[in-house]
Amino acid sequence: MSPTDTPLLQVTGLEKSFGANRVLDGVDLEVRRGDVLVLIGPSGSGKTTVLRCLNGLETPDAGVVAFDGGPSVDFAGRVGKADRTALRDRSAMVFQHHNLFPHLTVLQNVIEGPVQAHGVPRAEAVARAVTLLDRVGLTEKRDAYPSELSGGQQQRVGIVRALALQPQLLLFDEPTSALDPELVGEVLTVLRELANEGWTMVIVTHELGFAREVADEVLFFDEGVIVERGAPSELLRQPKKERTQRFLNRLL
Ligand code: ADP
Repeated sequence: MSPTDTPLLQVTGLEKSFGANRVLDGVDLEVRRGDVLVLIGPSGSGKTTVLRCLNGLETPDAGVVAFDGGPSVDFAGRVGKADRTALRDRSAMVFQHHNLFPHLTVLQNVIEGPVQAHGVPRAEAVARAVTLLDRVGLTEKRDAYPSELSGGQQQRVGIVRALALQPQLLLFDEPTSALDPELVGEVLTVLRELANEGWTMVIVTHELGFAREVADEVLFFDEGVIVERGAPSELLRQPKKERTQRFLNRLL
């Protein structure tokens, strides 16, 4: 196996409980460079919690999260702050609700992370932000406040904010589910472009048509485990497991 065939991210035996609620019950997954992994499954099945564990927003009870050539953290053992920071810096997350700072302009929102968390010089962060905003068609909105933007524009700024952190891995948690139907398309277009540019992404979504188009692999979650995984052409068209079939039938 050549080094580039090594998965960018390998997750093994991820477990997480909230009190007595066992939310992740041994999740294994890997993401190859440039691949798009789509997580589907009923509400409450643990998809968001997986993303939050990868991005350091939740601490798993057990499991290993390993980035190729980077941090490898075994959550069954002692995990220090340096491990957490190293892990967190590998990925950037786009949330269901854009989570922009309302008192900052679009540009200020985008440069906040690079400048404050990564110590990027302000001028460099601004230059990078301007380029990224241009790519998603928001150049003229750089000095607007989030409340002056449509939901789709806000979400596109959320994506730019994640890109500005220059992560190896992009995580999307239902990026279109809070949007009015007519605004979903513009956000999915940006995601499609990112996939075509070779970004490595893990996306939680209920947009099955989109999943069919962009996913390299689809994982179906139910009750904290991956019930079935496969290429979208197989899993979404001819699922092998009855639970997957039932879930897909409900969405059709
Ligand atoms: P999904 O993304 O598949 O809808 P989640 O990962 O959001 O599922 O949630 C899985 C389960 O974990 C749900 O039962 C949810 O109520 C619970 N949960 C998630 N976050 C917390 C939290 N911070 N505290 C307590 N329970 C939580």
